Amino acid sequence: MTEPTEPNGRTDPIEPTPEILILGGTGEARALAAALDDAGYSFISSLAGRVGNPRLPVGPVRIGGFGGVDGLREWLASNRIRVVVDATHPFAATITRNAAQAAARAGVPLLRLRRDPWVPGERDRWVRVPDLPAAADAVRRRGTRVLLTTGRQDVGVFADIHTAWFLIRVVDPPTSALPPRHEILRSRGPYDYASELELLRRNEIDLLVTKNSGGSLTKAKLDAAATLGIDVVVVDRPAEPDVPTVSDVESARALLEGLLR
Ligand code: NAP
Repeated sequence: MTEPTEPNGRTDPIEPTPEILILGGTGEARALAAALDDAGYSFISSLAGRVGNPRLPVGPVRIGGFGGVDGLREWLASNRIRVVVDATHPFAATITRNAAQAAARAGVPLLRLRRDPWVPGERDRWVRVPDLPAAADAVRRRGTRVLLTTGRQDVGVFADIHTAWFLIRVVDPPTSALPPRHEILRSRGPYDYASELELLRRNEIDLLVTKNSGGSLTKAKLDAAATLGIDVVVVDRPAEPDVPTVSDVESARALLEGLLR
């Protein structure tokens, strides 16, 4: 963990004072950190500290919450951040909302870097739902052997479903209540098509549940499900604050160049 200033407020002589805060925890955030590092920008990445052994971006990193909107606003001011890039996951709705409010109150420009959502193709059998409770309802209605890929924090929503067996794929073990019939599969993407096909076949999965996270790292499960004619419950993304948004790292870097000129 590297904080950009010493307790007495003077700039650390080794790390340059960061001008850009990247709110991270995603592949895009790591790619942006690498691109900014290459281009010689001073930045710091922030992680929530949710997973035990996170993939770290290049460059300085701080880990842990800021303490809500006020905490983030104060952090931006005391570290003299000039631009915030919210590159968090499309389903990390709280930090995205907090970032919009804190940046506005601190008078710091905010840029949202968010990957595009997945779009169903002709072979896909999607059941789109607005949120996790609706996904649980969909499972109650149609699943018997379910691959659950919504992440550790959302498993509890499915805990009272007795009618299905769940293969729960997570990076770290869930701490919430679990459905009575389940197996935990600990793994971290990216996943390829052949191994996803094999996983679905071997476990006789008849329903896949996923958030519409987008991106290429975890998309293979959708292609494998389409090949096998398996229904996919897809949770739509939460609404976001109205801030300038780009979907790729190069666009983010180009906008940052303009903002920091
Ligand atoms: P969240 O519900 O939106 O945020 C909850 C709290 O966690 C925030 O209020 C903030 O605490 C802290 N937080 C979140 N992201 C942070 C960051 N990058 N740096 C510092 N503090 C952060 O977040 P979440 O859905 O739990 O996601 C946590 C992290 O995991 C994010 O960085 C996200 O990019 C990543 N992630 C999430 C998902 C997902 O499906 N949600 C999937 C993959 C990766 P304070 O209020 O104390 O500041």
